[in-house]
Amino acid sequence: MHAFPINYIEPVFRPPSEANSLILPVTNGCSWNKCTFCEMYTQDQKRFRARKDAEIFADIDRAGKALPATRRVFLADGDAMVLSMRRLKSIMQKLHEAFPHLERISSYCLPRNIAKKTVSELKELAELGLGILYVGLESGDDLVLNKVNKGESFESSVSAVKKIGEAGIRSSVMILNGLGGQRYSEQHARNSARAVNATQPDFVSTLIVSFPAGETRFRADFEDYMPMTQTQLFRELRIFIDALELTESQFRSDHASNYLPLKGVLGQDKDRLLQQLDFAINEPDKALLRKEWERGL
Ligand code: SF4
Repeated sequence: MHAFPINYIEPVFRPPSEANSLILPVTNGCSWNKCTFCEMYTQDQKRFRARKDAEIFADIDRAGKALPATRRVFLADGDAMVLSMRRLKSIMQKLHEAFPHLERISSYCLPRNIAKKTVSELKELAELGLGILYVGLESGDDLVLNKVNKGESFESSVSAVKKIGEAGIRSSVMILNGLGGQRYSEQHARNSARAVNATQPDFVSTLIVSFPAGETRFRADFEDYMPMTQTQLFRELRIFIDALELTESQFRSDHASNYLPLKGVLGQDKDRLLQQLDFAINEPDKALLRKEWERGL
């Protein structure tokens, strides 16, 4: 049996929709790494560094020989778009040489790194196969974003997602259900919907905020955080979905963290999604909710 051609520094994360993609780390960790709700890259071995071209190209060469049929590549870890245009272009060109059937390249991205690239630069990346960018918006509410040290604002997030769309790249936006706690729940839901309405991303998903490593770090900057019950989380999601004015966007809350898996095209399925939420709010015993132990946190 051959070893997998890429040696990963664990843990490695990718969006659920990239399950069949080759994961290629071009950085280790996240260049920001200060969001207080995020434990993805807090371990020592995940300290941020951009990988050297030589390391990345050696991985691509090995993967090209071992997995020549690869059609999709996800550039890891937390924000490949932190790399310069020169580096991104050479990595993408190299990927096409190694994988003749390559159809799509994707990555997570931080709004601040999109701000440093022009629309025409992003178009160049789109021409090289960059097909979708995943943006962790988390919230459209500036107060909540401040309290969780996201380092972004409504304006910076909206302008990044708009830019991605202008460049012809698809966008997938994630909102964190429950991020504002009970106290800021409604403004979090309404302003998140406002941000999503302003940007019309191709995909919108929600995850439930959770703290597998404990709440201490999160609470240090968010002293008035009050955790939400399952029903309160559903009510917040209902306010958010009800306020969305999207036509083609696909909505998903099927990540394992959610109690109620929801899925649909917002323009046509919004009423059904709201009915599912009403049922979960009013008849939680009859709704098909995930039990605590079924939620993969
Ligand atoms: S920007 Fe993303 S990966 Fe980085 S710390 Fe914040 S949530 Fe985590």
